[in-house]
Amino acid sequence: MWVDRSRPMCKGSHTSGSGKGAMVHSTGTRVGSTLWFQGKGKVALRTEPIPTPGPGEVRVRVAMSVLCGSELGGLHADGPMLNAGHEAVGTVDAIGDGVVAVAVGDRVGVSAVQGCGACDACARLEYTYCPDRSVVMGMHADYIISKALACFRLPDDITWEQGVLLTGDGLGVAHHVAKRVGATAEGTRAAGSCVVFGVGPVGLGNVLMQTYLGANVTAVDISADRLELARRLGATTVVQLSAEDSLAPADEQAKRIVAAIGAAPDLAIECAGRPTSLKAALATVRPGGVVVCVGEQGSVPISPSGELISRDVALLGSWFYHFAEIEDMVSQQRAGIGVERLLTHTFPLSRAQDAYDVFQSAVAGKVALTRDEQEDIR
Ligand SMILES: [Zn+2]
Ligand SMILES: [Zn+2]
Repeated sequence: MWVDRSRPMCKGSHTSGSGKGAMVHSTGTRVGSTLWFQGKGKVALRTEPIPTPGPGEVRVRVAMSVLCGSELGGLHADGPMLNAGHEAVGTVDAIGDGVVAVAVGDRVGVSAVQGCGACDACARLEYTYCPDRSVVMGMHADYIISKALACFRLPDDITWEQGVLLTGDGLGVAHHVAKRVGATAEGTRAAGSCVVFGVGPVGLGNVLMQTYLGANVTAVDISADRLELARRLGATTVVQLSAEDSLAPADEQAKRIVAAIGAAPDLAIECAGRPTSLKAALATVRPGGVVVCVGEQGSVPISPSGELISRDVALLGSWFYHFAEIEDMVSQQRAGIGVERLLTHTFPLSRAQDAYDVFQSAVAGKVALTRDEQEDIR
């Protein structure tokens, strides 16, 4: 399905115009670069035929994609496998049959979670609730295929850097958390106090969002570098735990965190994806507080009576974001949230290995891979 046999054979010459960066193999097939996980943390670029959009689909010439912590499992698995990139922006360079919402030349951000387009959830642009949704991966590539319904047309005043963070999970996950919290009676998303456990890129997004919404934010992590990033994004208190501290009983961690803040917080957002930090989050919030699970993890033993019922604590899950939320995030960007501050490093796609190495060093926020013509000509 990735071979575009309808294209004219332009042996040996580089294409131009909207296909900038593509080149032509000696076989005559237009090709672009796609990143592959090689196993054990290594990545490599492969030259592959440029895909053709089917009905309802568009092809996007990617301008920028960003790395996500959820890719690390695949990165360290036994390779090779297609990259798990799922946050990208670019220019539509071909459309399939029946596409009217976007046109060739449009700048778009692509939502990785894509609905069927026919159900009630999709009518509300809540693709994560669509029973027939698909998740598009492999976005660290020169060209990607997306359903047109999952392409958000970027306004002219939104840069690639901002766009990839507004339509990827950089800000989207944090926006959805705030929305979930606001949807509960006890939700205190603004002007309350909030503690974020684990300030990797997703946690940093929550620090930025909660600060913007007016909460007094505390960040908890074992990395001094990431806590410094959290401070720059608005955290007023940081608590650095040693690896040993982070495994201590929940009550001990909670005591230390509450002492640092001065009072038990209203809201705790668990982004570390660790059983001990979820338990600590439950013990840290005030009675009547809210805990949101964002970090993916397996089973964690919880006592409904001791940890939830007797303390009126609400425990929520929150996944990704709704396509319908992007407009609101664009408004927040225009109002000054400054989403681009989440981005700490940028590399060309050809230096993707360096990008992943930095990303895993715990000194980085969001890390971007850019495409430029120079790097595409091999
Ligand atoms: Zn992600
Ligand atoms: Zn649907």
